Amino acid sequence: MGLKQKIMTAAFVLVGLHALSLGTLGENRWGAFCSDFVQLVLGVMLVALCLRAYRKSLNLPRNFWLLTTVAFSIWVIAQTAGTYADLFVVPTLIHWAINLLFCFWSVPLAMALFLDPEHEGGVDLLVILDFSQSIIFCVAAYFFFFYMPRKLDPTADLSYSVWAPYFTGYGIITGAFLLRALLTHSVAVRRLFGPMGGFLAVSGTVDCLYYYGPGRGLQPGAWFEILWSALLLIPIARAVTWEMPEEPAVTSISGRGIVIAQIFPLLFPLLILGMFVRVAKLNLRLAACIVLISFLCSSARLLVTHLRLLKAQDALRREASHDGLTGIWNRSAILSILLRELQRAARDNSSVGVILADADHFKMVNDLNGHASGDRALKTIAMQITAAIRPYDSAGRYGGEEFLIVAPGCSAQETFELAERIRTSIGNCADIPRAGERKVTLSLGIIASKPSDTAENLLQAADKALYEAKRLGRNRVEPRVEISADTAQVAAKQGLN
Ligand code: GH3
Ligand code: MG
Ligand code: MG
Repeated sequence: MGLKQKIMTAAFVLVGLHALSLGTLGENRWGAFCSDFVQLVLGVMLVALCLRAYRKSLNLPRNFWLLTTVAFSIWVIAQTAGTYADLFVVPTLIHWAINLLFCFWSVPLAMALFLDPEHEGGVDLLVILDFSQSIIFCVAAYFFFFYMPRKLDPTADLSYSVWAPYFTGYGIITGAFLLRALLTHSVAVRRLFGPMGGFLAVSGTVDCLYYYGPGRGLQPGAWFEILWSALLLIPIARAVTWEMPEEPAVTSISGRGIVIAQIFPLLFPLLILGMFVRVAKLNLRLAACIVLISFLCSSARLLVTHLRLLKAQDALRREASHDGLTGIWNRSAILSILLRELQRAARDNSSVGVILADADHFKMVNDLNGHASGDRALKTIAMQITAAIRPYDSAGRYGGEEFLIVAPGCSAQETFELAERIRTSIGNCADIPRAGERKVTLSLGIIASKPSDTAENLLQAADKALYEAKRLGRNRVEPRVEISADTAQVAAKQGLN
């Protein structure tokens, strides 16, 4: 029998022992103790299993199991105190604290609703804001469920009039768990929130039956307790069988799903608002404080979400216009720039220099050094081109190892000089991986626009010129243009020609 089976068998044996103790000892002092003790052992087992699942997990599941461990640890503390109280006399305050812990043990678990699969690693600001809401909820709930009832009736231990809103809140959180499991695109979220939502639903129903149904008025050690032990088997089974699932590489979320998912962070503010009315009846200032802090958290959340949306929009825009490998403009962006510059040149009666550059024998770089080396070479070529052009020129990746440079205001001669500058900077660059013994060089076809030229004409002419540069031996600019004596001198100094 594997470890998982052994643990599950032990859990079932404990539930069986519980039934046995309920049947034989009943509601006497020892019966109550045995009943609570068996549940305590199941609880400790559950905490240990949650910790084990936490250690085995990453990202969202890791945080989920951490919160679950905290939640069940609170439950275990309450259960330990309860078990002790079965045998020994304890002050009313302790009974009261046990009640409080049993009512709110699930709050850390409910916080799991805020975990976001998109923002893992590090503490997310949105999660902090949402956690703040749940802490405000706890404070408000304390006043709502405990402080206020005692203020109205000092003899009241825990006013039963508040059970209805308690169960409403519990029901909302349970519904949110099940909804989240249903809507998610993440396998891990579905496998965690589904069973835990089921557990919350069953445990809420059992609690309801205890306060309103057949369990009403029953003492510890009564048959009803077996239900609580049995339902602990659900999280035990989930924790013991937990393995990190493999997530689909590409996920798509429907717009409706996103909107519904955004409702979860609103749950606690909603519950706080519900409690505000009651708290306000006795202490308006306190109620106003609670609502104000909750409002500030909600507003901050809205602003942070908006800022993230703007950043995401910016990143998308950049991604749509830039080449993923080299980081320079992509084909459609550089063609738009060419069109825009041609329109501007037509207005100013100037010309636009167009340079089409192609890496020579580039296939050999890939063949001899591998594709990764080819990629590195393309990146360095793009960097060299960007460094060689003027700030108002634009360079884009036109195709695989082809680059298009748009140089506004350049005559044929200036375009030729610019192309030569690019050619030599690539030829002299030691960072570009070589193709065996051969250096990587560029062949460039150039053209300067006339007012009647269209983008297609110019690209065709540049392509033809590039073909000519290849035909005439590569590592050259075509068509060659007579350059002035001064430029020739500078070029000679730089080692051109
Ligand atoms: P030529 O001097 O006639 O231009 O020869 P060439 O080998 O450069 O030309 P060819 O068109 O035969 O091969 C182009 C090569 O460029 C083939 C292709 O694998 C490589 N290439 C295109 N895009 C990429 C890329 O993104 N990464 C890498 N590593 N290689 C690329
Ligand atoms: Mg080539
Ligand atoms: Mg090519």
